[in-house]
Amino acid sequence: DEKKLKQFFIGSIDQGTTSTRFIIFDGVGQPVAQHQIEFTQMYPQSGWHEHDPREILTSVEQCIEKATQSFTDQGHQISDIKAVGITNQRETTVVWDTNTGEPLHNAIAWPDTRTKGLVRELKSKDGADALHDICGLPLSTYPSSVKLIWLLKNVDGVRKAYDEGRLTFGTVDTWLLYNLNGGKERDVLVTDATNASRTMFMNLHTVQYDDKLLEFFQLDRSKLRLPEIVPSSSPESFGSLTYGPLKGIRIAGCLGDQSAALVGQQGFSPGSAKNTYGTGCFLLYNVGEKPVISTHGLLATIAYHFGGNRKPVYALEGSIAVAGSGVKFLMNNLGFITHSHKISDLAASVKDNGGCVFVTAFSGLFAPYWIDDAKGTIFGITQHTERGHIARATLEATCFQTKAILDAMELDSGHKLAELAVDGGMSNSNLCMQTQANIIGIPVDRPAMRETTSLGAAIAAGFAVDIWKEFDELKEINQKDRMIFEPNISKDESTKMFKKWGRAVEMCRGWLD
Ligand code: ADP
Repeated sequence: DEKKLKQFFIGSIDQGTTSTRFIIFDGVGQPVAQHQIEFTQMYPQSGWHEHDPREILTSVEQCIEKATQSFTDQGHQISDIKAVGITNQRETTVVWDTNTGEPLHNAIAWPDTRTKGLVRELKSKDGADALHDICGLPLSTYPSSVKLIWLLKNVDGVRKAYDEGRLTFGTVDTWLLYNLNGGKERDVLVTDATNASRTMFMNLHTVQYDDKLLEFFQLDRSKLRLPEIVPSSSPESFGSLTYGPLKGIRIAGCLGDQSAALVGQQGFSPGSAKNTYGTGCFLLYNVGEKPVISTHGLLATIAYHFGGNRKPVYALEGSIAVAGSGVKFLMNNLGFITHSHKISDLAASVKDNGGCVFVTAFSGLFAPYWIDDAKGTIFGITQHTERGHIARATLEATCFQTKAILDAMELDSGHKLAELAVDGGMSNSNLCMQTQANIIGIPVDRPAMRETTSLGAAIAAGFAVDIWKEFDELKEINQKDRMIFEPNISKDESTKMFKKWGRAVEMCRGWLD
């Protein structure tokens, strides 16, 4: 019952692209304590995007410390925290020395496009066409595989470690699990199925590494240590925290951030979907226990795998590289605003986009277009153009790509979505969410508590330690005070806008470097 559930707590590490959070939830899914730290984004060259793996780890440790302090300050007992879950930015690639546990390079972050040339080469190689059906992903700059290959080709220390058989590869979940468990002493080297499904090394059908994929990338498993793939919710596989205020507490859940948001939004039935507007924007559509390989530019991925008797559940995914990072670009590079949340006021200073379309292709264009060489382009500038128009066009860019993804999903799945559940930093903008509803012509449904990614990791951990046993027990969680945005423009008007967007996309192809 509710009173009992309020006495159990679950910690959730949310290691995102721009910030790290630790949130402690009670058994009814309410956050009771939290801390958030932004960490350094490194852009050493145009198109390159790196993170320091040490700083990522330190930010996690500090968030745990601060949030736990606030938790105990409120009079709660650490012993009532039953488990910890992890959710993380996906694809971001870390390599470290098996013997020392030290990183051999900065992490290459998921939006990084340094692999553009490499991807072009790989695409023309024998066997390239067969990859998509095995792993569900098209060859692009996005998955971990091409990031690892780039490191092997370009960083001597990484190549040498590989040749000497002491190279460990991991995504951010694996890096954190390894270190929180005490590093090389305990040597916990695991990844959950959702994270593994983004590497391009995993067979989507067997949920195991696939020799065909590894051979294509010419990777020799006797020289490279890969983490073991385990279910996302598991009482044993992830070990426990070996230091800090939560020392001894079990880590019981692990999900890539977009999977965690789907779980946090309780998208457990086939046909349900969520769209998360963070640094990038990611729409996941639950397709049930069999993967659907897209023929319309979407990714096939593991939605979540709760283990035990439960089979892995799959999703179709539409990934948009730039969403909130477009807002940050207007703030940091162009000085249009001083805080992200001020974008809505700036956009509201004009009544429409004034004819501007901004294709925010800073990292090429992802789903459903997959144009690696597209560059960000603003169309329709006139003497009349103001900052407000460009602000509006920046928010609209994500909304248009979401529309293109929903159209592709309808073609792949044969179903039309009735309503879109949303979350993530940019979903805080009412203007953006209203625009989204107008462009897709269906209601947009936003929860009051928007930390659904963290909540999803807490749910995965809570299931593993039996706080909940059935998805049905969660159905009251985060249902109060949701806000629904109903479309309020005509179909003709939205069709016209979307057509213009489509033309802009075609025009931003093939810009010469
Ligand atoms: P991530 O987990 O990818 O780091 P978050 O979900 O924390 O992302 O969202 C952060 C992004 O949301 C930032 O890029 C920021 O610019 C954007 N953002 C935050 N608040 C707002 C707002 N009120 N309006 C528009 N964008 C916002």
